[in-house]
This record gives sequence, structure tokens and C-alpha cells, in this order.
Amino acid sequence: MKYLERCHLLRYRLSTVPLNWLNLSRGSQLLLIAFSYGLGIVGIWLLFPPTHNGASMFLPIVTSCWLFRYRGLLISLFLNGIAFQLMYIFLLRGMLPDQAFVEGGIVGFVTSLGLGIIICWLRAAVDQVQVARQQALAAEQERLRILLKEQQITLAYEQQRKINALKDQFLLNVSHELRTPLTVLGGSLELLYEFGEQLDAMKRAHFLQKALESQADLVALVDHVLDATEIVGDVPGAHSEAINLKHLLQQVLAHLSQQDLTNYTICLQISEQIMVWADPQFLRQVLRNLFSNIFKYVPGQTEVHIEATQVDPSAMVYLHIQDAGPGIPVAEQPMIFERFVRLKRDLGGSTRGTGLGLYICKQLVEAMKGRIWIESSGRPGEGSRFCLNLLPAK
Ligand code: ADP
Repeated sequence: MKYLERCHLLRYRLSTVPLNWLNLSRGSQLLLIAFSYGLGIVGIWLLFPPTHNGASMFLPIVTSCWLFRYRGLLISLFLNGIAFQLMYIFLLRGMLPDQAFVEGGIVGFVTSLGLGIIICWLRAAVDQVQVARQQALAAEQERLRILLKEQQITLAYEQQRKINALKDQFLLNVSHELRTPLTVLGGSLELLYEFGEQLDAMKRAHFLQKALESQADLVALVDHVLDATEIVGDVPGAHSEAINLKHLLQQVLAHLSQQDLTNYTICLQISEQIMVWADPQFLRQVLRNLFSNIFKYVPGQTEVHIEATQVDPSAMVYLHIQDAGPGIPVAEQPMIFERFVRLKRDLGGSTRGTGLGLYICKQLVEAMKGRIWIESSGRPGEGSRFCLNLLPAK
């Protein structure tokens, strides 16, 4: 393989001679000149007298003109003259009449000069093409650099725009969320303040109860937003441990509002043996968020199925919570786990929400190296299935 590669490289280099000589190192250039002089001198010696005009010295002329341009031409004409003279004096004297030698020398000199000038012109033309090519390359690089910078600016602008849109959405959601409990709280307190004495004890207790509920709603909302801002900044590290999934779910269900819970028929199908490797706090929060959504969006008197399966003890645990609510339209499913995303049908509705619950779920599940996704046909009544993959306990 290596041998083949080397052959290809050599073939390429030979096929691009003399253009690949444009950037030879100084050492290689001098070697080439020395080699061409060697060949030229051996040529005169062996081919004399037929090449008595020094025709074989064209080789160093061509090489030096190509490598060193007009400077090369001058020096090599001078050196060729000396080489020719010395050869004649010391080796070839008497092998040719003096007259023929002088004529051959003049013809050789004039031909070398002509040939050298042509090669120098050629080299100058190639140099110009090279310079133009380099300028074009530099211009193209500059154009690409500017394009890249423009793209970076557009990207930064786009990101800024998205952040602003998110902030607007956040403010809109939160103010929408705040309005209802604040109105109820204010209304109840105002009624108690204005007409407290005229109201009987039952009514007073009722309004106080409403005020307290709204206050609890406000606290829950603030907690929710705080949770989300914490997670937006930096997802906390999970402190995972082996957890019995069924026991944890039973705990979560026991701590949910029993009033909400009795509205639904909960079917829990989880084997006692299933153990997951998860952060109990994170997992509780994820399950609480999913149940709180069910209470908000799924009509009562319907069934909620909670099931977990595991193919073998080393496989991921698959947990799903299936409701019989309005479902989630397929087109909106890809965004449902993003920040501040609420379904279009709920944006104008009376059900309150910040669009942060599922985002928090996703961040927490991923912090535990799990996965969460939604499966829903989007058809009302067919419901939504929130699916989780959790690590098995080691
Ligand atoms: P929030 O409930 O605060 O609006 P979430 O991130 O928890 O935010 O949910 C995002 C949106 O997904 C909700 O606004 C709602 O439109 C939709 N959704 C969530 N859970 C369900 C569900 N079980 N059934 C139908 N729609 C749901």
C-alpha cells in the first residue's frame, strides 16, 4: 500500500515538472543546477565532435533560467563559456579544426542566449500567473472571512432575538399566572375587610380559605419559576442511588392532593423488583410535574395507567404514564419539552401554566442519564403517554 502511494506521488511529481520546481528549496535548486552541469559536461565529452557547439550545455541553461530567471541566464552563459573553453583546452584539443570550434562556440552561445531568453519569458509569465492566483486566493479567503463574520453576527443577533422572545414569553406566562390568584386573593381580602362584620362565620371562613389557597398558588408559582431559573442556569448534578420504583411512586401519589387524585382511577402496574438508579428528589419532582399536568389538562373520571417494564435486570427501565386526556397534537410534540412552550389550545384558556414543567422534567431526567419523550396521536380522548427511560440500579 505504502509502495503504491509512493509510486503515485512520484508519478504526480514527474507529471507536474517543471511547475513543481517553482517552490524548491535553495539546496534543491543548487543540486539541480549541479546535476544539469554534470550531465551537460559528460554530454559534450561523450558526444564530441558531433556536438561541438556545446548543445548538451543547453540543459544547465534551461535549468538555471527556469530557477533563477535572468540572473541564472547571465551566470550560466558565463560558466558554460568557461566549461566549454576548459574542455576544449584540456580534453578535446586537436579533435576539431580551430575554425570549426570557434564557429561552433558562437552558434552555441547565440542559441543558448535565445533559448535562455525564451525560458526566462516563460518563467516570468508563470510567475505572473502565480501572483494573480495568490491574489485571487487571498481575495477569496478575505471574502470567506467576511462571510463567516457576517454569519457569526447574524447568529448572535438571532440568539439575542430568541432570548428576548423567551424573556417576553416568560413575562407573559408569569404575569398571566399571577393575575388569577392575585385577583382572588385581593377580592377575598377586600370582601373580608369591607363586609367582614356583616358576613357570618361560614362565609368568612370560605373567603379566608380562598385567600389562603391563592396565596398557596402564588408560592407554588414562585417555587416553580425558581426551580426553572436554577435549572436554566446550570442543571444540578444528580445524586443517584438505587431506588425501588414502585415504592417511590406510591410515596409521590400519597403526597399529591387527595382531592385531585380521587377524581381519577389510577392503575399502577409496577413489579416490586424493579430498581432504578436515580436521584430520588429529581425523580419525585418529575413525577409530581407529570401528575400536576394530568390534574390540570385531563378531565376527571378517567383512567391513568402507570406501568414500568424491564427486559432484564441490566436493561434500562421503561416507565410510562398514560392518561385519557385531550392528547398533544403531533405537530407541537417536538417543542413540548422546550422552555415556556404551552400548547396553542391552552394559551388562551383558563388553565394556568408557565410552560416550564416539562422543560424541568427533561433537564432532570437527562441529569440522571435517562430520557423522556411523549407519545400521543393528538386525537382527543386518546390521551398522552409520557415515557421515561431510567438507568437500572447497579
Ligand atoms: P404548564 O403546564 O405549566 O403550561 P408544562 O411544561 O408542564 O407547562 O406543559 C407544557 C404544555 O403541555 C402545557 O401547557 C399543556 O398545553 C401541555 N400538556 C402537558 N401535559 C399534558 C397532558 N397530560 N395532556 C395534555 N396536554 C398536556
